[in-house]
Amino acid sequence: MRGIDVRPDRCRACGLCIAVCPRQAIEYDDTLNTDGYHPIRVRDAGLCSGCALCALMCPHVAITKVYRP
Ligand code: SF4
Ligand code: SF4
Repeated sequence: MRGIDVRPDRCRACGLCIAVCPRQAIEYDDTLNTDGYHPIRVRDAGLCSGCALCALMCPHVAITKVYRP
């Protein structure tokens, strides 16, 4: 199964990944990271196709495409 891993500490809440995701699979988390931003999270893993557009878009390299068994 393809998906993404998020490093919340790197996220700057710019929203680019949310805007580019064709499946609306990403949203902001309610919590704050150590730099005071609301990092993104996967809203529903079942929605994510693993297309990696979000990972390509992120200027802070906070998203990694992964394969899960
Ligand atoms: S990998 Fe694709 S479908 Fe999954 S969250 Fe990123 S942009 Fe959306
Ligand atoms: S593109 Fe990167 S920095 Fe911007 S909201 Fe998404 S994960 Fe955070």
